[in-house]
Amino acid sequence: MGMSVNEHDTLRHDPECIFCRIIAGQIPSERVHEDDRVIAFRDLHPQAPVHVLVVPRDHSRDVTELAADPQLLAHVTTVAGKVASELADGDFRLIFNTGAGAGQTVFHVHAHVLAGGKLAEGEL
Ligand code: AMP
Repeated sequence: MGMSVNEHDTLRHDPECIFCRIIAGQIPSERVHEDDRVIAFRDLHPQAPVHVLVVPRDHSRDVTELAADPQLLAHVTTVAGKVASELADGDFRLIFNTGAGAGQTVFHVHAHVLAGGKLAEGEL
């Protein structure tokens, strides 16, 4: 049990992690983008007209861990912008809840992309 490393590369995978299971295709999701480093899919409980999660394939806990790979963190940001342009007008809010006290419930790093409407300040 516990974390395993993909035999083909160095991607970490936790069989107990819901986002690892979505990435592996074991749980369905409505994907709007995927490439070799990240997937993006619609949030189950949208908080805006467009609410997409951008999720690195490699399992890490939160954005402070993700920052150890600045290129991957930058790629998450680029994909967020692409999703906001394709599904909305290009403007977006990017949120990384970090720690339970800040509302993080899934401990596989993900960026919330909120777009597609006038986003009130202070709601999230
Ligand atoms: P956070 O609270 O920042 O950890 O965000 C976790 C997000 O994942 C929440 O907005 C949930 O609605 C969303 N979520 C949980 N399970 C799923 C799922 N199976 N498919 C899509 N989104 C999910």
